[in-house]
Amino acid sequence: MFTILEFHNISNQGIAFTKIPSRRFSKILDILIDETVIVPPSDFQAYLAGSSNESPQVMLSFDDGYEEVYTNAYPLMRERALAGMVSVVAGYVGKTNSWDIFGGRLRHLGWSEIGDLVADGWYICSHTMTHPDLKRCSDDRLVWELTESKILLEDKLGTEIPAVAYPFGRFNMRVLKATHQAGYRIGFTVGAEVWQRPRIPLTTLRIPVYQTDSDALIRAKVKPDGFSKCLDAFKNRTFNKLSLATSFVHRNRYKEIPRF
Ligand SMILES: [Zn+2]
Repeated sequence: MFTILEFHNISNQGIAFTKIPSRRFSKILDILIDETVIVPPSDFQAYLAGSSNESPQVMLSFDDGYEEVYTNAYPLMRERALAGMVSVVAGYVGKTNSWDIFGGRLRHLGWSEIGDLVADGWYICSHTMTHPDLKRCSDDRLVWELTESKILLEDKLGTEIPAVAYPFGRFNMRVLKATHQAGYRIGFTVGAEVWQRPRIPLTTLRIPVYQTDSDALIRAKVKPDGFSKCLDAFKNRTFNKLSLATSFVHRNRYKEIPRF
């Protein structure tokens, strides 16, 4: 069984349900090490294709690419010889957050910090240029968000970027087609969408981790389906709906391509 957990910021400042303090993150890592094998992101495409390993395997992903992933999560991962995946909002590299109404004025990772992570086995995927709700974007904006971020990340990092994480986990058939046409082979989402069709690599599911999750719930997330996992999925959908306030506030800007 292979699970991809989705974290956001590992932060000791401010309060938000997506922020996990360093000390709690350290405990979560130790729980996961006890319960599972934490696999590196380098060959996650092989895991997606089907792992033959019976024991639960977990990959750790961090959305939005905040600097605190480097200052707080990275040292705790490195001392346990672990690497993770960061979804980078390409247009905000080295800049301060202004796209998330809940995010505060936090700084995003800079190119040199991203370079350090890549050199240490971390994996980078696109999280678009400006983190819009792709379902609300005009066709032109949708193509720009997906294509421009891929080209920018590939140019700066000198490596292919085959994966994108959809902002807010939101997608539909129009978004999937544009993602495929932009050259991505993998798309990461969360359980926010009611998606009845079979999962394909462009609709790869991740399970979010929130500050309020108990030790027992962390264990349940990486185990086969059960009652706790159903409750967790319901709670995660509710939290995801709250995050959509950002997409609602910015919705009118998603029709045009922004100038940087
Ligand atoms: Zn995000």
